[in-house]
Amino acid sequence: MIAYLFLAFVVAAAVALHFWWRRHYELLRQQSLKEQQFLAEFRRQCDQDAGQQQAEQQALFNSMAEGVLVLDQSGRVQLVNRSLQEFFGLKSDVRAQTIMEAFRLQELAEVIRRLPAERIVQGHELELPGVNGRWLEVNAAAVLDRAGTQLGSIMVFHDLTRLKQLENTRQEFVANVSHELRTPLSLIKGFVETLLDGASSDPQLTSRFLRTIEKHTDRLTYLIEDLLTISRLESGQIVMNLHPVDLRAEVAHVLEDLQARAAEKNVVLQNSLPAGLEANADADRLQQVLFNLIENAIKYGRAEGCVTIGGQSIADGKLELWVKDDGPGIPPEAKERVFERFYRADRARSRETGGTGLGLAIVKHIVQAHGGEVWVRSEPGEGATFFLTLPQA
Ligand code: ADP
Repeated sequence: MIAYLFLAFVVAAAVALHFWWRRHYELLRQQSLKEQQFLAEFRRQCDQDAGQQQAEQQALFNSMAEGVLVLDQSGRVQLVNRSLQEFFGLKSDVRAQTIMEAFRLQELAEVIRRLPAERIVQGHELELPGVNGRWLEVNAAAVLDRAGTQLGSIMVFHDLTRLKQLENTRQEFVANVSHELRTPLSLIKGFVETLLDGASSDPQLTSRFLRTIEKHTDRLTYLIEDLLTISRLESGQIVMNLHPVDLRAEVAHVLEDLQARAAEKNVVLQNSLPAGLEANADADRLQQVLFNLIENAIKYGRAEGCVTIGGQSIADGKLELWVKDDGPGIPPEAKERVFERFYRADRARSRETGGTGLGLAIVKHIVQAHGGEVWVRSEPGEGATFFLTLPQA
């Protein structure tokens, strides 16, 4: 009996244990399922956050004018922003490539090689191969963790091209000015020395030499005046004082001043401007423009030729003015360049006529300061016509 009771008890206990275990197992299973779901959700969230963070980072870097390059611990490209892609003309995705694979520039790889020892490399100037002659300034830094282990590197590239171009222009300008000053000065010195060496005893020779000296000192004065004008125009020191200016009257003034020069070459000056055409301009500066253009037309035009000044109103509240001569004209390759400082199509001719090589550069500056444009049309042997636009009053 006791044995039966014991057996029944054991069976009941086993059944109870079985149900308890099943319930417990079910609870555990559900709990583990929930945990798995939670983990999966957490991982998805983390991936989403990381993706979003990376996208935000990329958008931030892409908005920068500087080029940015991030490398990982093994020196492979992790991030390249848009400016850098443009600087190097990168067409394909270079992520995961080495510096040499992505950029093929030994000099750049060398900067990266210096980083573990130097930690930071600043102001390294790099000229990119190619016809454009792009210059970049490279600043690189090692990315370190708290323990000082290098996790990667970051490089920032500044575009120096414009600065380099300005530097070249400045150097060229200084060289040109020195050359322009040296020529008349050495001529003056030569004539003075000849006079001191005894030529002064011949009154005829003396007066000839003195006249030549006077011509060259005049040239120096014009050159310095033109240089000052250019420098004031470029630095914005000259403020345009705009008023309605009657063009026909203004041209008549300038023609009066140049009448003697024209008479020396038997050149006829013709004012063909319609009455009542008014520009919104600075009268003094406009006179300088007209003087330079008409003086050039007389200087480089034909002896016994004709110089005509005309104009008309055009669209958009503007007017067009032109100065036309019937001289030998300007060679096609020189047409684009005559407005550059010190450019002369015919160097000997310009010197002989006392030109500074700055007249048309001044014209261009003044016209542009009025919001206008200037250009030339010329066929060899058929004269040259200089055009300019100005705002109409
Ligand atoms: P310059 O002092 O030498 O005259 P400019 O700047 O006024 O300097 O002119 C630049 C060059 O453009 C001149 O040296 C000349 O070769 C050319 N040029 C200017 N005007 C004319 C023109 N009307 N006909 C032919 N060539 C011209």
